[in-house]
Amino acid sequence: MKKSTLTNLIAILLCCLTTHVQGQESWIDTSIHSGLIELKTDYTFKTLVSNDSIKTTTETLKNLNTAKLYFDKIFQTDLDFAVLFIENREWYKHAYFPPPGLPQAGKGNVILGLDKSIVSMEVEKMISQLPEQYLASLKPVYGAKINLDLFYRETLSIHELAHLYHFKEGTKPQRKWLQELFATMSMYSFIKEKANLSYQLMNTYPEFVIQSGDRMAEFKTLKDFEEKYVQKLTPQNYEWFQMQFYKNAKSILDSNKTDILIKLREFLINTDLSNTKALTDSELSTRLEKEVGKEVTHILTNWKYK
Ligand SMILES: [Zn+2]
Repeated sequence: MKKSTLTNLIAILLCCLTTHVQGQESWIDTSIHSGLIELKTDYTFKTLVSNDSIKTTTETLKNLNTAKLYFDKIFQTDLDFAVLFIENREWYKHAYFPPPGLPQAGKGNVILGLDKSIVSMEVEKMISQLPEQYLASLKPVYGAKINLDLFYRETLSIHELAHLYHFKEGTKPQRKWLQELFATMSMYSFIKEKANLSYQLMNTYPEFVIQSGDRMAEFKTLKDFEEKYVQKLTPQNYEWFQMQFYKNAKSILDSNKTDILIKLREFLINTDLSNTKALTDSELSTRLEKEVGKEVTHILTNWKYK
C-alpha cells in the first residue's frame, strides 16, 4: 500500500469517526446542561446535577441503568442519553416545562427533580386531609409519612426514559395517547420483569387514583387528550388520562409478550407525522390491528367516553 493511500484511508476513517461522534452529540440537547455539575458514576450515560451536596440520586440511577439495559436489549439499540437532576428552584433554567420536579424527557435528556417534587407535595397535602381508612393501601407502600416521590420520581423516571426510545427516531406521533401508552407499557414491562421489588410503588398509587373514580376529570375523550394534552388540562385531569393508559397497559402486558412493545415502537416510528400523513381514527384502527395488535385497537374503539 502506498503511503498516500494509507494517509487517505486514515483521513476517511477519522472523518467517519468524527461524524459518528458529532451525530451522537446532535441528538442530546446540551444547551440545557450549562452550569450543571457532572457526577461520576459507573454508568455509560452522562449524569448532571444542579447541586452535588444533595444525595438522592443513587437508587434512581441504578434503576435507570437497569432499565436502559433492558430497553436496549428489547429494542436492539444502545441509546445514548443524559440524566439531569434539578432542584425545584433551578427548574426553569434547565427543564423544558413545568411543574418543577416532575420527570420529563426530550432531545436526549431525562430531567428529574433533585429535591421533593411540587406535585408530590401538593398531592400529599390533599391526601393527608382524607379519612384514615382511605390511606390504608398507601401507607404500607409509601411510608407512614406518605412519600409520593417514590411514585412520581422513581417510577415515572422509567416512563420518561422509555419515551426517548421513540423520540430518537421521531417526535410527532399519530396520537399522543399512543406515545404515552408506549412509555407506560415499557415502564410496566420493565418493572414487572426486572424490578419486581418496585412493583407496588408503581401500582399502588394508580390503583388508588383509579378507585377514586372519574370526578377529578372534566375532560374524558381521547380527542380531548389530543387537543389539550399537558398544557390545557388540569394536573388532575391529565393524571386521570395517564391512569387510564396505565390500566390498559397493565391488562395488555399481563396477557402478552414484550413483542407488542417492539411492534408499538415500530408503529410510532413508521407512522410519525414528519414522514407520513395524518391517519383518521378508522385508518388508525385498521393499521393498529394489523401492525400492533387488536388489544391496542380496543383502547380506541372501547374508550368509555366518546
Ligand atoms: Zn409520557
